[in-house]
Amino acid sequence: MSMKINTNSPFFYNAHDLPRRAGEMREAALEIKLIENLGIPLLSVPAGSSVSLGLRLESVDEGILATGQVHATGIGECTRCLDPITFPINQMFQELYEYEVKGDRKQKSKREQEAGDELDIDDAFFLVGDYLNLETPIRDAIVLALPINPLCDEECEGLCVTCGEKWELLPDDHAHEVIDARWTGLANWEGSNGESPGATEK
Ligand SMILES: [Zn+2]
Ligand SMILES: [Zn+2]
Repeated sequence: MSMKINTNSPFFYNAHDLPRRAGEMREAALEIKLIENLGIPLLSVPAGSSVSLGLRLESVDEGILATGQVHATGIGECTRCLDPITFPINQMFQELYEYEVKGDRKQKSKREQEAGDELDIDDAFFLVGDYLNLETPIRDAIVLALPINPLCDEECEGLCVTCGEKWELLPDDHAHEVIDARWTGLANWEGSNGESPGATEK
């Protein structure tokens, strides 16, 4: 078998104590310490923090059915005011880890491992010896649970686009005069009886 068991990976779970008889079941509570961020660049569960995983493994005819409840705290920034925010992640996954088989299906599972964060739920997972690699289901669960439009507060007023100050901290009549060299030039030109803009003083 060409697939490697990376026992250093916090995502590999050894299911040796689950009898391979349909109907058998085991439960475990895991704390998985992340060595890299999980998520997308501005919204993630950061490296160094932990993902809590409630895991239920059931033996079925084809392999092991893994049901996981992922709990974690994500960090990111408010899309309106850019303040740092945190948000809870609670997301379930369920995946069938099939017993390893020879031939073309093995290739599929290798491809899937390399694909990493692809969200293709049709791709099969495979047991590697006694191990389940939980990285992809956990990663996918976290990405699914990321807020689409994260805000520090529903009422967040965001920033003035000109000066970048928070509207919350600015007076109601806050405004900016439009000072733009092109407009100044145009005003001079119009006021100078048809002379070309090039003749305007700098
Ligand atoms: Zn905000
Ligand atoms: Zn402003």
